[in-house]
Amino acid sequence: MSDLETFRADTRAWLEANCPPEMREPVRSEADACWGGRNFTFQSEAQKRWMTVMGERGWTVPDWPKEYGGGGLSAAETKILREEMKRINARNPLSSFGISMLGPALLKYGTEEQKKRFLPEIARGEIRWCQGYSEPGAGSDLAGLQTKAEDKGDHYLVNGQKVWTSYADKADWIFCLVRTSTESKHGGISFLLFDMESEGVSTKPILLISGYSPFCETFFDNVKVPKDQLVGEVNRGWDVAKYLLGHEREMISGMGLGGGSSTLAKALGEIDDPVLAAEVALFDVDALAFAAMSEHFIDQLKAGEAHPALPSMMKYAGTELNKKRHELIMAAGGSDALEWESDRSRKGKSAREWLRTKANSIEGGTSEVQLGIVAKHILQLPGA
Ligand SMILES: Cc1cc2nc3c(=O)[nH]c(=O)nc-3n(C[C@H](O)[C@H](O)[C@H](O)COP(=O)(O)OP(=O)(O)OC[C@H]3O[C@@H](n4cnc5c(N)ncnc54)[C@H](O)[C@@H]3O)c2cc1C
Repeated sequence: MSDLETFRADTRAWLEANCPPEMREPVRSEADACWGGRNFTFQSEAQKRWMTVMGERGWTVPDWPKEYGGGGLSAAETKILREEMKRINARNPLSSFGISMLGPALLKYGTEEQKKRFLPEIARGEIRWCQGYSEPGAGSDLAGLQTKAEDKGDHYLVNGQKVWTSYADKADWIFCLVRTSTESKHGGISFLLFDMESEGVSTKPILLISGYSPFCETFFDNVKVPKDQLVGEVNRGWDVAKYLLGHEREMISGMGLGGGSSTLAKALGEIDDPVLAAEVALFDVDALAFAAMSEHFIDQLKAGEAHPALPSMMKYAGTELNKKRHELIMAAGGSDALEWESDRSRKGKSAREWLRTKANSIEGGTSEVQLGIVAKHILQLPGA
């Protein structure tokens, strides 16, 4: 047996022995996912155990180095682990902005002390992070941000406001873009990390029409941030921000995979309407093509060979595909699918998921903005 075959056999046996049966079903909603953190309430013992055993093995972040809490696996081993988890429908043990966004940025731009301090906590799900990028006047035009950080010798003094900060009211720490100079738009931004319990930080949940509140306004009023919590160089935070966004877009592009292994035609069962059946078949062809492209993309990304604009292309394709998937699910469900409250519809599961997909093509940068990036950096269109 080759080394990789042995690794696959060992991994399969370990997963069989350690993945609780309840964790072999798709995550039903954002609330059903395991987010970790200081104040997280686990939905079940199985959820807690799955996060803990995977965290101890470094398999919440299999390809991070062992000294930072990762599994130290090679790209080929990481892929095998992914395949073996998929084989038994094992859930992602930990949904975490620390893993999908901040971690890669710290690995590239963090100091040795920062890596040792923050990465193992992220890997074990002990600290939950939120993202302080958008502001009332800075969304797509992110570099227009105004939140100010003044140099006060041994610390920065932060004042300003962020908006759409997902789960700011539940997060322990924030990674935050701040303005440290007004001399240059992109060249005056810095990247800070700080505790959400710091004096002067407050959050105000934004209540949506659905009654659900996934994000907040976040206010900073004379927040003191020690200087060793600056990532990268002062005024060079835009490089860190863009690198992190590439990883965020990779994560969101995964929406295109639909979270399951079955085709949509199989999931929907018999469809009477021939036009709808044909649309579903065409969709499945696109979904299979996307899944194949996605495998290739992840391989390139892990090998450090992906074009910097590729995450934008994948984010655009994955989120638009997922919107189409849910349009078709709603069409197949007819007017019943719009039902919103009853237990029979599981409190409007289909309708709520359908609406949520609309936000995927906004968060992490809108579809229009991704198309602009692809036009400019991949297609090199004139005037883009
Ligand atoms: C579910 C969700 C979660 C989010 N979570 C977070 C978070 O945790 N942290 C955070 O910082 N932010 C978060 N955001 C904010 C998100 O990053 C912004 O909504 C997004 O970047 C767009 O900014 P905006 O809403 O200000 O829209 P605007 O920038 O005002 O855009 C309005 C419209 O104009 C279009 N447009 C703007 N500029 C261009 C252009 N150059 N070319 C073509 N079209 C353009 C856009 O595509 C859009 O249709 C979240 C958003 C959502 C929906």
